[in-house]
Amino acid sequence: MSNPMRMCIVCRDRFPQAQLIRLQYKDSVLVRFCGVGRSFYLCPNCKEKPKASDCIARICKLDKKHKEMIKFALKEIFLYG
Ligand SMILES: [Zn+2]
Repeated sequence: MSNPMRMCIVCRDRFPQAQLIRLQYKDSVLVRFCGVGRSFYLCPNCKEKPKASDCIARICKLDKKHKEMIKFALKEIFLYG
């Protein structure tokens, strides 16, 4: 199958992989998945939810102090692709 279902870490709904945004936490920065390492998915509905940064912090085992960085990184990722 070329389009498997994946779970959004925020709403926990399942979507075809192609509809989701795949991210990873790498070298202390939140970035788009580069093809190596652990990754997770956000659905288009959740990418701008305030809760998203909480879920990302939890998944990446980050402290609350990193939440601003996550919010900032999310904005950059969605603005510039
Ligand atoms: Zn979602």
